[in-house]
Amino acid sequence: MGQLNAGIVPVTPFQQNCAILFDMDDRNGVVVDPGGDVDKILAVLKDNAITAGAIWITHGHIDHAGGAMELKDALGVDIIGPHEADRPLLANLENQARRFGLTDPVRNCVPDRFLIEGETVSFGEHVFKVLHCPGHAPGHVVYYNRAAKFAHVGDVLFRGSIGRSDLPGAITRH
Ligand SMILES: [Zn+2]
Repeated sequence: MGQLNAGIVPVTPFQQNCAILFDMDDRNGVVVDPGGDVDKILAVLKDNAITAGAIWITHGHIDHAGGAMELKDALGVDIIGPHEADRPLLANLENQARRFGLTDPVRNCVPDRFLIEGETVSFGEHVFKVLHCPGHAPGHVVYYNRAAKFAHVGDVLFRGSIGRSDLPGAITRH
């Protein structure tokens, strides 16, 4: 087993950090939260000789899931996650795109499999525990790799702030 590595690809006008998690040795991995700019994500995979075997979603906001169906078609892989509580958000992405005036093509997302608290997902030998962390979005999940002490937290934590709450489904804090 090679070392786990994470590459970041800023996508969408929101500059959301799409992540490519991969094994340093065999270059197999997954794409997490392809919100858009699918051509850019595909170019990064190609330029770094990384084979993505799945798409993992942390939650159903447009900047995290807006490009998932297009990327799924391009790669021929499954979309895994988030928790089913985000199904309504994922079914409403095209409306979100219109509301935000996005020009990038966005498609409503139907995951191949939803996740629940405590189960695991993996690629190669890299195993991630699924933590269901509702709040920012009802179906938000975190992918935690104990061996590498690495967690892909999506929007549960923002650098310098704690979770934005201006997107649909978020809990507003007072
Ligand atoms: Zn979000």
